[in-house]
Amino acid sequence: MFSKIKSAVLFATAAAVAAPAFADEVNVYSYRQPELIKPLTDAFTDETGIKVNVAFLKKGMVERLQAEGDRSPADVVLTVDISRLSAVVNAGVTQSVESDVINSNVPEIYRDPEGHWFGLTTRARIIYASKDRVADGEVTTYEDLADPKWKGRICTRSGLHAYNVALTSAILHHHGEAEATEWLQGVKSNLARKPQGNDRAQVKAIWSGECDISVGNTYYMGKMLADPEQQGWADSVRIVFPTFENAGTHVNISGVAMTKAAPNKENALKLMEFLTSPKAQEIYASANYEYPIAPTSSPVEIVESWGEFTPDPVNLMTLAGERPAALKLIESVDFDG
Ligand code: FE
Repeated sequence: MFSKIKSAVLFATAAAVAAPAFADEVNVYSYRQPELIKPLTDAFTDETGIKVNVAFLKKGMVERLQAEGDRSPADVVLTVDISRLSAVVNAGVTQSVESDVINSNVPEIYRDPEGHWFGLTTRARIIYASKDRVADGEVTTYEDLADPKWKGRICTRSGLHAYNVALTSAILHHHGEAEATEWLQGVKSNLARKPQGNDRAQVKAIWSGECDISVGNTYYMGKMLADPEQQGWADSVRIVFPTFENAGTHVNISGVAMTKAAPNKENALKLMEFLTSPKAQEIYASANYEYPIAPTSSPVEIVESWGEFTPDPVNLMTLAGERPAALKLIESVDFDG
């Protein structure tokens, strides 16, 4: 119902330009980039005839949904990271969705028991290790990162970045506050330089010899390999899937939620059921070198070539709950300082 839109929201029409006006539509607020979303919305429109309008937001999704209230045109939100998903849910601007289709497509640990959010893809937070200076098996756990043998050899982005807060939340969940604090201090004292830059900048630093290992998300390997300027960085490292002691590899998700106001609720449900289907997850995952999570789905070949791993079995809701405490710890050890 676009006539309802008062704010200057620019909707990029994701449907084919030549298509006639659609009787049905659904509106999406997305923190994810157009090139990741378009293949999905095109496939959905092809299959259902429902037009998808996507507003691509850089920030302020929660504030916008709150300000728009029950007049919001948005039906569905797409974002990454459990912290952002839970921020939308905690703001009270989503609604519970009950669907057997979705529940059978999304494993329990990757969805809200109350149905307010659902995961679509995962990415693992792994270790990039120098092929030249780190031997196979030299680093196998996240706990290892605090070992003094890595003194002056680790690079990372800010400890306060959502990716690292989630990782710290997991450490906190597995080990409790005292050990998590010790771990943070240990990692900090092993850093080759103050936390800075993004995940790829750390791999570049390995390539240039500034450090030997870094922490980063898996899909950046695919992105670096696809960029001629960054291929050399990628070639200088290999991916190690660390685990927590006695647990699995830390993953985070991209996910979807239905807004509380959803003016096109039926279409929103159709879109969400489509997005969680193995086929759609595979399209979505392949666009950013991520992992689809439906039981019968698999990642693209290059992603598969990085190796197999067992995701940490903790429910992401649990990690979201640890977030405030994790942030406090990271600040208390002045991780970035
Ligand atoms: Fe990222």
